[in-house]
Amino acid sequence: MYRSYFKHLECSVCGTQHSGSELLAVCKTCGKALLASYDIASARSGLRREEVASGGDSFWKYLPMLPLRSPSSIVSLGERMTPILRLTSLERKFGTGPVWVKDEAMMPTGSFKARGLALAVTRAHELGVRHVCLPSAGNAAGACAAYAARAGMGCTIVVPKDTPAANIEECRIYGADVRQVDGTISDAANEIQKLKKEHSDWFDVSTLKEPYRLEGKKTMGYELAEQFSWNLPDVIIYPTGGGTGLIGMWKAFGEMEGLGWIGPARPKMISSQAAGCAPIVKAFAEGKSESEFWEHAHTKASGLRVPKAFADYLILRTIRESGGSAFAVTDERAAEAVRKVGKQEGFFFCPEGATTVVALEQATKAGFVKRDAAVLLWNTAAAAKYPGFAS
Ligand SMILES: *Cc1c(COP(=O)(O)O)cnc(C)c1O
Ligand SMILES: [Zn+2]
Repeated sequence: MYRSYFKHLECSVCGTQHSGSELLAVCKTCGKALLASYDIASARSGLRREEVASGGDSFWKYLPMLPLRSPSSIVSLGERMTPILRLTSLERKFGTGPVWVKDEAMMPTGSFKARGLALAVTRAHELGVRHVCLPSAGNAAGACAAYAARAGMGCTIVVPKDTPAANIEECRIYGADVRQVDGTISDAANEIQKLKKEHSDWFDVSTLKEPYRLEGKKTMGYELAEQFSWNLPDVIIYPTGGGTGLIGMWKAFGEMEGLGWIGPARPKMISSQAAGCAPIVKAFAEGKSESEFWEHAHTKASGLRVPKAFADYLILRTIRESGGSAFAVTDERAAEAVRKVGKQEGFFFCPEGATTVVALEQATKAGFVKRDAAVLLWNTAAAAKYPGFAS
């Protein structure tokens, strides 16, 4: 018998409870991000980690800790657990413990955006949505368009004009209405706001402006815990744009401790950003709890070109709670890292993923990563979507 332990939605700032069975975007009281809340006490006695882990390598095996009404609503493109590879050349170079990379290039549509959008589109579909819309810096667009097509929903995407061609092409192939604007994802978001006024039935699946993409990204935390036999690495370096993955992993760790699956030890969460768009790095360094809009954001690591993340306060809170840090990386250094790791390891980082390699170097030089620390990097997309970045 299927059982989800999902209870309701709760505001990440004012704590107001909201119904979990209604279609909601953000907190009705204060407008901030809503988080899905679970009946951890019942799940603690009813849900054994070994049982969940034995559910094969499907992403959907975490269903009891996901918010679906029924497994029959799942909109799937064949999501699987992604591999973790060891990169010994980096261990030797930086003098750390084992360095691993979790390779999300293997997800449908070639990026980890599939995790969030598989969940958001499935849940929106379950709640009766017929048309989704989204501003995107690139990979979220492709994933949203693919899952919407799979669900038989309409899809409108707005992206910056200089979004990688591969992302625009995939949206067209999936039948989405793709519009291009001058500027960044922030300008695309303004355009979506305008369009929503004319189309009141469209549902906006922007990062953290609806609660379920986060739940999809949360599986990153569950999955890596299982892959590391329930002993989390000491350091996690995450290429941060809107922050869903970072916030999602942290949420998963909290839930798993509540479930009795892991202990209280937590990795240091390190954000890597592009030097041409590093609002989180700046806010972290200045001790601020929110970031400022980053003017003239530029980087070829398109997933990181987010001048102001909607849930920046949750990203910054997570980094601080974990005792982590944040580093800015130039595109040149990232490209160099792509070439080095490619040659030495047979592993091809995407630009965003490559920033984690350079951030690791900066963190070790700063004495921030201990000599025996186990480190997990994230490669968040398929490098083939960014032709010419490092060559
Ligand atoms: C979106 C994206 C990121 C940033 O992810 P967030 O969870 O929004 O911080 C990193 N890498 C790639 C390839 C992306 O598409
Ligand atoms: Zn609120």
